[in-house]
Amino acid sequence: MTARILDGTKIRDEVFLELKDEIARLAADGIRPGLAAVLVGENPASQLYVKSKIAASEQLGLASWIHTPPATTTTDDMLRLVDRLNKDDAVDGILIQLPLPAQVDTKRILEAVDPAKDVDGFHPVNLGRLVSGRAGLVACTPAGCMEILRRNNIQIESASAVVLGRSDIVGKPMALLLMHANATVTICHSKTRNLPDVLHRADIIVTAMGKAGYVQADWIRPGAAVIDVGTNKVTDANEAAHLFRNFPSRLEKFQAKGSALVGDVHPDAINVAGALTPVPGGVGPMTITMLMSNTIEAARLRRGKAKTNAAESVARAR
Ligand code: NAP
Repeated sequence: MTARILDGTKIRDEVFLELKDEIARLAADGIRPGLAAVLVGENPASQLYVKSKIAASEQLGLASWIHTPPATTTTDDMLRLVDRLNKDDAVDGILIQLPLPAQVDTKRILEAVDPAKDVDGFHPVNLGRLVSGRAGLVACTPAGCMEILRRNNIQIESASAVVLGRSDIVGKPMALLLMHANATVTICHSKTRNLPDVLHRADIIVTAMGKAGYVQADWIRPGAAVIDVGTNKVTDANEAAHLFRNFPSRLEKFQAKGSALVGDVHPDAINVAGALTPVPGGVGPMTITMLMSNTIEAARLRRGKAKTNAAESVARAR
């Protein structure tokens, strides 16, 4: 069996079209949703992520701003900046790019963001809303995984779903979303015993652990749907040779570039799973897509606008 590829780029394009309709409707009411990104210091990965998020905002015609405090910024400076953004009526979404420098109290900063503008869905108020099944802003990566499942008509209700990872930003919200969609959910972590056995019972597997190719093909039940959130940069030639042993073209690309992005699931899983997100090109594009969706949703809710069909469609996963 060769798995059906769950193409996140294709779904991103579909959702963007729907969001453009929604943006046009808001524009007719004089509303232009706005996203303010806060990028502290000069971490190259963070700079790249923020650049992609701002580029997506511009592509959709949202207003956007980047604030760039220096790496020496303090918790108090950051709290003042967040307070300013909370009070700025043009700002619908506030994005604090993580990680913050060690001297900054990350939890305090995230909790200072107005929950109505918390487009990353990290604020305890939004997490609480998710736990209790109330409408709110949902963390972008898990919301994107749900869109991938739904738009590919993968049966979630009554499915046995295993989420591998229990972080606040991916694993936990993912498990809650699947549970609210009536899957029977098991959450695994580093202390889970007999992981292969647990995974083998799953109809849906979502991996968010950060370990390149850790989940072996024979741990997956034939036909299962696999959503691979892991995004791991492999630079070791031996590791690449093992991971790409059955994929000569990927190995060649690795050799030419000196690195490759690999998910948490071993590439051989493509011959066992029924459906699989590629890395890159699966969950990654959906995370930014859901950030855009959340910014528009935040604008709509904050400014008291009714939900349109387009917004309804994108928000189905919540
Ligand atoms: P994280 O906070 O480091 O959490 C990793 C989780 O994996 C933890 O719950 C950990 O268990 C579990 N884990 C680690 N080793 C394990 C093992 N051997 N067996 C079972 N469980 C194990 O990571 P995260 O922030 O959730 O991110 C996870 C991955 O997703 C990373 O590769 C990250 O780059 C990627 N990611 C991608 C996107 C995207 O847009 N594509 C977005 C976010 C994250 P414990 O709790 O017991 O330590």
